[in-house]
Amino acid sequence: MADREELESVCKRRGFVWQSSEIYGGEAGFYDYGHLGAKLKDNWERSWKEYFLSLGDHYHMIYTPNILPYRVLESSGHVDHFSDILITCKRCGNSHRGDHLLEDITGESAEWMNKDELSDHILEHDVKCPDCGGDLDEPEDFNMMFEVDVGPKGDRKGFLRPETAQGSYMNFPREYRALRKKMPMGLATIGSAFRNEISPRQGVYRLREFRQAELQIFFVPGKHDSVFEARYQELEKKNIKLLRSDWEEQKEVSLDELDDLPVFYRYHLAKIYEFYSEVMELPHDEFRLRELSEEEKAFYNRIHFDVEVHMESLGGWKEVAGLHYRGDHDLGQHQKGSGQKMSIPIDGERLIPHVIELSFGVDRNIWSILDKGYRTGDRDCMKISGSLAPYKVAVFPLVRKDGILDRSIEVYEALKSKFSTFWDKSGSIGKRYARQDEIGTPYCITVDYDTLEDDTVTVREIESTEQIRIPISELSETIESLIKKEKGFSS
Ligand SMILES: [Zn+2]
Repeated sequence: MADREELESVCKRRGFVWQSSEIYGGEAGFYDYGHLGAKLKDNWERSWKEYFLSLGDHYHMIYTPNILPYRVLESSGHVDHFSDILITCKRCGNSHRGDHLLEDITGESAEWMNKDELSDHILEHDVKCPDCGGDLDEPEDFNMMFEVDVGPKGDRKGFLRPETAQGSYMNFPREYRALRKKMPMGLATIGSAFRNEISPRQGVYRLREFRQAELQIFFVPGKHDSVFEARYQELEKKNIKLLRSDWEEQKEVSLDELDDLPVFYRYHLAKIYEFYSEVMELPHDEFRLRELSEEEKAFYNRIHFDVEVHMESLGGWKEVAGLHYRGDHDLGQHQKGSGQKMSIPIDGERLIPHVIELSFGVDRNIWSILDKGYRTGDRDCMKISGSLAPYKVAVFPLVRKDGILDRSIEVYEALKSKFSTFWDKSGSIGKRYARQDEIGTPYCITVDYDTLEDDTVTVREIESTEQIRIPISELSETIESLIKKEKGFSS
C-alpha cells in the first residue's frame, strides 16, 4: 500500500502518468501518459475490447468524432441538464463545486442534491470559502460542456462530447441494417470525452479530458431474453460481492438470489465482476458493485450499479465503472430530436430498443491498477496482472564479459518478437531487479555462466522473488503460459 504522494512520485519518476503541460506549470484536469503509462493503458483497452466484445455474437467497436453538433446534445438532454452546481466566493472570487464544499464539511456525498437543497444545507452548516473564509454567493447551475465554434464564420455551434455513448446511439439504425438486423446488438467505443470540471482534484480521478470505454447493448425486453438467459446459465451458481441500496453493508451472494433484477442485468453485472477479478486481478475485498439509491441515480436509469475500487491514494471507495439499464430513453430522445425512426419492426409492431450501458472510465481504471499494485516497504514493488503489465519480461546478463552479454542479447531478441521485453545491463543484478519491481515487470531472466554450459537461464517472479531454472528452448512457451495463468510459478 502506498499513499497518494508516494504513488504520484513513482508514476512521474518511472514514466507512467503526470500532469500535462508540466513545463508551463500544468493545467488542472489534464494528464499525460508516459511510455509505461501508455503501454499499460493500451493493454487495458485491448483486454477490455477482447473481454466485453466476446460477451455477444453481434458486439462490435465503432469510432465517432469528439465534436458533436448542438442538436445532438440538445436531444440527449446535455444542453439543459448536464451541469454541476457552482458556488463563487464573494470575497476572493474563487469558484467551487457546491456538493464538494458540503462534502468536505459533512463527509457525506451531496452529489444528488439540487440547487435549492444544496443552498439550504450550505446555510445550515454555515459553509465558508475554503480558500479565504469569505461568504459564499448563491449557488448557480454551470453547464460542464466545452462549447466549440465549427466553421469559418463560427456560426455552427457544437460541443466537445461529454461522453462517448451518443455516437453509438446515433449509429444504431445504420448498424442495425449493416449487421443484418441481428439482436441483441452491441456498439462499443473507446475514446476521449470532455467535461469542464469546476475545480478538478484528486489527480486522474476527475479530469477535464479523459478516456471512456463504453459498450451500449440494444435489445427489446421480452423479445431477446432467451439469448441472455442461455448465457446466464453458465453463471447461475456464481457468487458476487455487492452492496444493494437498502443494505447496511456489502455481502457475497449468488446471482440467483438477485431475482428482482432481470436476467440480462444480472448477466452483465456478473461479467463485469469477473473482469475485475480475473482480467484486472484486483483482490476480492478491494472492489465491489454498489447499487445507487433512487436519490443518487439519474431519472432515466432504471437500474444502476457502480463498480467501486477501494483506493488508498484517493481516500476510500471510488467509482471506476457503471452498469446502467437506461430503458428506451436514448433512442427515444434521438427519434424525437432527429425525426428519424429509431424503432425496429418486431412481431408486427414497431418498438424502440432498450439500452444497457457498460461504462468505464479508462484513466480511473488505470489509476486503480497502480493504486492496488504499488507497495512500499522492504522492497518497492508494483504488482500488475501479467496481461496488463507494460513489460512482461526483462533480460539481464549477469556480467558483461565472457560471451554472456552476447548470449543475453540473443535471448532478448528472441523474446522481444513475442512479448514486450526489456534488456538491462547496467548496475548490479539487485538494482536491475529493483527497477523492474517498481514498474511491474512480472518476470526477470538472468543469463549467467551456467547458461554457456547448459543453455538454461534463471527466471525470477516479481511477487515471491522465487527463482526457477528453465532451458532457453522452453522460455517463450513458459512465459506465455505463466502470463495466461495456465501455469503457476514454482521451483
Ligand atoms: Zn474566497
